[in-house]
Amino acid sequence: MRRIYLDHTATTPLDPRVREAMEPYLSEVFGNASSVHSFGRQARASLEKARTTIARCVGADPGEIFFTSGGTESDNLAIVGAARAARPAGRTHLVTSRGEHHAVLDTCEALVQEGYTLSLADLDERGKVRPDEIRALSDDRTSVVSIMHANNEVGTINPIEAIAASVHETGALVHTDAVQSAGRIPVNARGLGVDLMTISAHKIYGPKGIGGLFVRRGTPLDPVFHGGGQERGKRPGTENVALAVGFAAALEIACTAMTEESAKLAVLRDALAAAIRERFPYVIFNGDPVDRLPHILNVSVDSRKMPMEGEMLVMNMDLKGIAVTSGSACTSGSMQPSHVLIAMGRDPATARATIRFSFGRGNTEEDVVETVKALGEVLEQMTKV
Ligand code: PLP
Repeated sequence: MRRIYLDHTATTPLDPRVREAMEPYLSEVFGNASSVHSFGRQARASLEKARTTIARCVGADPGEIFFTSGGTESDNLAIVGAARAARPAGRTHLVTSRGEHHAVLDTCEALVQEGYTLSLADLDERGKVRPDEIRALSDDRTSVVSIMHANNEVGTINPIEAIAASVHETGALVHTDAVQSAGRIPVNARGLGVDLMTISAHKIYGPKGIGGLFVRRGTPLDPVFHGGGQERGKRPGTENVALAVGFAAALEIACTAMTEESAKLAVLRDALAAAIRERFPYVIFNGDPVDRLPHILNVSVDSRKMPMEGEMLVMNMDLKGIAVTSGSACTSGSMQPSHVLIAMGRDPATARATIRFSFGRGNTEEDVVETVKALGEVLEQMTKV
């Protein structure tokens, strides 16, 4: 059976060019980037070259990029680090939205346990955060406002520039999680006006286990880890040069190919959307029709017209060789609907009957045809049951 991977929002395969760029650092170039001898200096030079490439791709200075173990760690470092640094000044309030990734939501909740207060902004029906609501929730006690650039479930892109401009009137810092957008659409940290920005490699054909945090020069940020002085004391631990080199190669390829690639992915996404709209009238589309990532299509089966479990849909699609994701997550042994879709106003039953298709470099028009065929068979089989 031919397998079709339509879950590029979860992760992507390693690009062979990225693997090739990394290979020397998994064998002969093994020095510790902090060592003063030639082995160390060679590793250091490659690490700094990777940092410079990444900075250039996201509109930052190399000194503003800090390597971490991925998007989750960058979100934690940004929020915890900024909140702790602002605490002595009496800023103990945080703002985020109901649609954030758990790396942000759970980090904020953890800070609430330490005595911080938290305000949660709503999403509109297309999954967007409203700048006026964020401004109304922020004041001179707010330390950090964290709003994602593009949503990982529905692909909606938030107006970060407007949010950052209005939040800065209060003196609070602005963090954006750009894990899904960096390398997919133009992302410029300085243009967005943010103080902190999270990026990750494995969503853009880079290796897993490496990410970065943009920290605008002069932004107060306490480290979360303690130990050596690596990454200018903000993120101690011996640097993984191979992963950093892979991250830089992946981002450079993604940024160079971006226009062409996003046009191709949008064609596939729109072909799938059109076929679904024509064949399955009881399906509804989630996300913003304009401000969205090019590769994500998120649909729900309308529970008023046809009851359906998203997890079963995903399992049945997998039996047909097609890898997609549902909108639900298993929490305490039961299927919980996606918090993003609930925040967008979907009823729990419809939110549970959701599939996210996310396209990538290897997908073709034939994949779309096979996916529509499989979806038809699965839905028919499931409605009979
Ligand atoms: N933020 C968003 C929006 C994501 O989609 C993800 C991964 O799914 C993360 C953070 C976590 O990134 P990582 O897997 O690199 O820890």
